[in-house]
Amino acid sequence: MADQALKPEQLLQIDYRPPQKDWRDPKVEFRKGVFCYSALAKNLEYLGLPNPRKWQPYDADWKLPPNWKEIILEGMRERLEKYRSFRLFMDICVRCGACADKCHFYLGSGDPKNMPVLRAELLRSVYRRYFTAAGRLFPGLAGARELTEDVLKEWFYYFYQCTECRRCSVFCPFGIDTAEVTMIGRELLTLVGCNINWVLEPVANCYRTGNHLGVQPHGFKDSIEFAVDELAELTGVRVEAPIMKKGAEVLFVVPSADYFGTPHYFSLLGYLMILHEIGLDYTLSAFVSEGGNFGLFTSHEMIKRLNAKMYAEAKRLKVKWILGAECGHMWRVLHQYMDTMNGPADFLEVPVSPVTGTRFEHARSTKMLHLCEFTADLIHHGKLQLDPSRNDHWSVTFHDSCNPARAMGLLEEPRYILRNVCHNFHEMPENTIREQTFCCGSGSGLGTDENLEMRLRGGFPRANAVKYVRDKFGVNLLACICAIDKAVLPPLLEYWVPGVDVAGVHELVGNALVMKGEKERTTDLRDTPLKMKEAAAHA
Ligand code: SF4
Ligand code: SF4
Repeated sequence: MADQALKPEQLLQIDYRPPQKDWRDPKVEFRKGVFCYSALAKNLEYLGLPNPRKWQPYDADWKLPPNWKEIILEGMRERLEKYRSFRLFMDICVRCGACADKCHFYLGSGDPKNMPVLRAELLRSVYRRYFTAAGRLFPGLAGARELTEDVLKEWFYYFYQCTECRRCSVFCPFGIDTAEVTMIGRELLTLVGCNINWVLEPVANCYRTGNHLGVQPHGFKDSIEFAVDELAELTGVRVEAPIMKKGAEVLFVVPSADYFGTPHYFSLLGYLMILHEIGLDYTLSAFVSEGGNFGLFTSHEMIKRLNAKMYAEAKRLKVKWILGAECGHMWRVLHQYMDTMNGPADFLEVPVSPVTGTRFEHARSTKMLHLCEFTADLIHHGKLQLDPSRNDHWSVTFHDSCNPARAMGLLEEPRYILRNVCHNFHEMPENTIREQTFCCGSGSGLGTDENLEMRLRGGFPRANAVKYVRDKFGVNLLACICAIDKAVLPPLLEYWVPGVDVAGVHELVGNALVMKGEKERTTDLRDTPLKMKEAAAHA
């Protein structure tokens, strides 16, 4: 839980007045609570990344390579040539300020360099100095800066205070995507060995075992079998959960937290129940025991390398298409990069539900479908028997996780599902949901304990909207469809909005699902007594 020294009323003393110093002064203070620890040398070595060493951001000497400046400028030149979007984002900002107050880190910290416009300007000022005539000739007038060690440290500080959530891009009249600027900033820092452990350790684990947590294939199998046993106890129905079944119709990919952490695990139970109930011919795989892709927080090359396993395993198992579970950034990678980086997946078919016959044309290119799309279609066609009263102990609101909402447009399906499996559903204020959703404040690898103060600050706008529905409607459950959200929202809400729990959408589907041959259900998937049963017992 949050450090008791951090009282909510203290964190809310936010000073929005601009500081006296010139914005071009790069000095930053790596204060406890607002930055993440550096990546361990062993993880850099494992991944073959440059400059493995022992260092921390608060050290005066970052032990950079002697030619670090050349490396960064050459890396910038390469990326300006390679990514048209990067060059465009460096050139077209008119500093209108429409994005300025849209970032949760600015709202929660009051630090002007957390305004998206200024965050991008940290990189842009160096771009101008070395890649534009005006910046070379009149640096002061053009807003150009020399690349110094202090500027590099400032990049590290602010590019690891951006969750790559893309909320700012919704409000920019030119569509400038500051998340992409942050991605390039992190790539450049990685060239000289400046990265954080909470990103690179999961990446290294993925290299070794295929998932962030380093769970080995037998551990994956054990976890799934444990879930099957537990479901048999809860429902009286023994489901099948095939692993590495060649020739299955569908490959099902989940984030590793689903079989390892709570509340994620309760959603896994929900998935297994639905897939059993409709008799889907599917398989899990220990070689794709992770849908998430922390490469997104490292470099484009790393995204590609971590994503490659999905199509490779689909091909090996000879499935027809891929189904993916509740995860956040996994879907950004799938939706925006997968088929161009590792496709075309012309050995797969356009996903068709064998139960309803629906052909999911929008997945024609990736051949991969989100479980919410699949479940919503089942409900729409009356293929699931549901008893929403089994969720009557919950008053539910829905948090649009940034990547499924803004990076793939999955807005209606989760809501449609929730309205069918719960009686009590309430939306948070309009400017905090759907495309305008507020980030959890801990995405893109920032969900570490040492960074807790910044996470609480960045998560405050989200929590504040939850508080509104808790106070107005008695909401006691925040549903979401992202593994990182499920891990980081519980401590955030405990701090700002006590009394509100967190669940995946498919946990609530699992609670409501009436299975053929089930025993009388007296508890939900958390083993909490059902409200209606409780009431009957007391009658
Ligand atoms: S809204 Fe777009 S153009 Fe305006 S300041 Fe922000 S990034 Fe620049
Ligand atoms: S992407 Fe999100 S965290 Fe990053 S600057 Fe934009 S709003 Fe802030």
